[in-house]
Amino acid sequence: MNVTDMTRESMPDVAARLDEHDVLASFRSHFHFPQHDGKDTKYFCGNSLGLQPKKASQYVAEELEDWRTLGVAGHFSSRRPWFSYHRWFAEPLAMLVGAKTHEVVATNTLTVNLHLMMTSFYRPTEERYRIIMAGNEFPSDRYAVESQVRLHGFDPTESMIEIQPLTGADSLSTQQIVDAVNEHGSSVALVLFSGVHFFSGQRFDMAEIAKAAHNVGAMVGFDLAHAIGNVELSLHEWDVDFAVWCSYKYLNGGPGAVGGLFVHERYADNADLPRLAGWWGNNETTRFAMEHQFEPTFGADGWQLSNAQVLQMAVLRASLETFMEAGLDRIGAKRDELTGFAEQVISNAIGTRSWIRIITPATRSDRGAQLSILFERNGKEVYEALIARGIVVDWRTPNVIRLAPAPLYTSFADVAFLGSTLAEILEGMK
Ligand SMILES: *Cc1c(COP(=O)(O)O)cnc(C)c1O
Repeated sequence: MNVTDMTRESMPDVAARLDEHDVLASFRSHFHFPQHDGKDTKYFCGNSLGLQPKKASQYVAEELEDWRTLGVAGHFSSRRPWFSYHRWFAEPLAMLVGAKTHEVVATNTLTVNLHLMMTSFYRPTEERYRIIMAGNEFPSDRYAVESQVRLHGFDPTESMIEIQPLTGADSLSTQQIVDAVNEHGSSVALVLFSGVHFFSGQRFDMAEIAKAAHNVGAMVGFDLAHAIGNVELSLHEWDVDFAVWCSYKYLNGGPGAVGGLFVHERYADNADLPRLAGWWGNNETTRFAMEHQFEPTFGADGWQLSNAQVLQMAVLRASLETFMEAGLDRIGAKRDELTGFAEQVISNAIGTRSWIRIITPATRSDRGAQLSILFERNGKEVYEALIARGIVVDWRTPNVIRLAPAPLYTSFADVAFLGSTLAEILEGMK
């Protein structure tokens, strides 16, 4: 399917042709769309809060029913026993992040997990204490890192190295990141990167970053908030030490969804690794013996604190079933085609206006489903005009509209409509 045919064919016709050949087209009907003027919105905020899978309410209702009818007995005798509820997630999560099943667990939320992971993997000493990150990272990650640095008695201004794009560039080159790691060498305790940057949409070369970190003897961790369910991941093979994520963005797990964490298997039975412990991380066979000595269970499960948040996890279960059914290969293929199409219709709409540009890398391997459009002026106005026309995108201060065509429920027709509407709005502005 060649989208450049658009010059000869009208955009809606191209979109219709692409939708017809879309092997994931039927998945759109698995989701509820927010309404605008009695019609489905064109929803491009799956990178912020994914849509509700239709199965979600049934799954939650079943847990409520089991609780209603079984009470405490539901821990072991409900349809999906709550005692072991978290275990169902190991397989889909392992598939999503490229891990072994004992390297992942659905638990807590992203920032909590980041703190838990840093407690185990950020162990600063006088010689080795620095943390290398991307510049302009998500505030929660910065707060977590800064507070961890202080907790250990170090100075954030000395200890946090935030790499900014070179003058005139919108993203970081892998070489720049590797150079920064090498420059700080034996003073680096941890390299902490996002898989996909929340603002620019840049996908980082996680394999190379992991290698660079390990070369200088540092730990490496990834925040996969914008990467999981979006881009291909091979955490085990890349030899990553730890990773964390939330599940309400591309994973469609709903507001406040239960997140997850990855711990490489080389730490699976390392009971000496310092950690903040809770009973759900204790060896299952002695958990209810209420022993006083904490004995971590094997693998990522050993970092759990509390018993499973079943009602939230019921939604996530509905959502991950959809991912398993659709398959990551098909999702990835559609992501690239759909994002490429979006890039093209947006570029057409922008035309020769030099005050607007897409800051997300143009190379497919350097991005996922997100495109970030920077406006040197009038950005907020364009954003509001899109919202008023039922096109849901988001605004990031000071000057960026972010949008993400999520492959599971966005159609090429949605993208074509976005392009023609944006063109119309921009035309009306000059
Ligand atoms: C969305 C996002 C978060 C959100 O953190 P929560 O703990 O889930 O509220 C954190 N970091 C990044 C990079 C994000 O994109």
